[in-house]
Amino acid sequence: MRKKAYPIDQPRDPQEEIHLLRQRLLALSEEAHKNEAVLKRFHERELSLLTCDSLPLLLNYMTEGMKKSFDLPYITLILLDESHELRHLLLHTNTHPEDLPEIRFLDSCHEFDPAVRYLSKPRLGIYVQQNHETLLSTKATDIGSVALLPMLRNGQLVGCLNMGSRDPYRFTRHHASDFLNRLATIGAICLENVANREHLVISGLTDALTGLHNRRYLERRLSEEISRAQRYQHPLSCLFIDADHFKQVNDNHGHHAGDMVLRELALRISECLRASDIAIRYGGEEFTLVLPQTSLQEASQLAERIRKSVSRQAIPLRNDQELAITVSIGVSTLTLHPEESAEESGERLLNSADKALYDAKNSGRNRVVVATSSK
Ligand code: GH3
Ligand code: MG
Ligand code: MG
Repeated sequence: MRKKAYPIDQPRDPQEEIHLLRQRLLALSEEAHKNEAVLKRFHERELSLLTCDSLPLLLNYMTEGMKKSFDLPYITLILLDESHELRHLLLHTNTHPEDLPEIRFLDSCHEFDPAVRYLSKPRLGIYVQQNHETLLSTKATDIGSVALLPMLRNGQLVGCLNMGSRDPYRFTRHHASDFLNRLATIGAICLENVANREHLVISGLTDALTGLHNRRYLERRLSEEISRAQRYQHPLSCLFIDADHFKQVNDNHGHHAGDMVLRELALRISECLRASDIAIRYGGEEFTLVLPQTSLQEASQLAERIRKSVSRQAIPLRNDQELAITVSIGVSTLTLHPEESAEESGERLLNSADKALYDAKNSGRNRVVVATSSK
């Protein structure tokens, strides 16, 4: 029987065969090196995200930081912030959301752009101005390609990271997007973690009833303010405010009414303050104000404004009842004792205001007393 003839390749010269194999091996190892480098860069970016320990830092890294690290001219971040929680946390760290032009906060998931609303994985492709200009917050016409990375938590879209490149081939449908997808997911998790952590820090330093800072915050801030005042030779003053006969409010109207009065007091005090003034609920029905760049005279005038604002109008309670309330206030200002530490000066400043408050109570209440000296 004749053997069936199969077409076979022309036999190659073994030298040529070896050469071809070497070339393939080289190409494969170059590809492996490239992938390793890409993986390393992504690892570094992930690490940067994971090590951000404050919200402003994380948001900055997800925009400015990623622009640098990906060498991209355009990056925007759109975040769902239904209860304004992220914006409030930012304000707490003195970052104004309006000062972050690359970040947009949405009040509802319906506000997500149609181009990203239903995305469950990254979309890479050619830039189309009418579809993408709002997402990238720019009218620029030099964008070639875009990567839209949805950020998902428990299957829900919580944000979108948008990247724009001038190179039309930087992001194409054929590119693998696993790394980008992972980065966006890690970004979403980090955001949630950092927001939770900031919450804890704030709640540890904030009084839950009035929303003012608490005494622990004062302990942290006071020495800082004293050092700053000494360094720049600025005045620094302090007010101690205490509600008069507050026990009677509780006794006559109940604890809940007492709480309402405390909240209203905090509000009236806050309304009289500048952004740089620091308001603290020192304890019970006592409030402390630390007033940077404020002289004794300015502090006394402020104290008088607060006293009037409290006594002028009764505080409405439930059941159409109202309650007239007054406060007594002690005022002091920082005097320089070069041999003293910032902590000692702080203690002297507070003691001095407290003593003036005691005098205000003893001389009839509903009044302001200015400390003669804080020696
Ligand atoms: P004075 O004019 O001398 O300051 O008299 P006072 O009654 O205001 O002072 P006192 O220190 O005798 O009473 C303070 C009261 O404040 C007693 C306490 O039960 C009440 N209090 C402290 N913290 C709270 C709070 O968070 N809520 C309510 N409702 N009451 C509080
Ligand atoms: Mg008191
Ligand atoms: Mg009191």
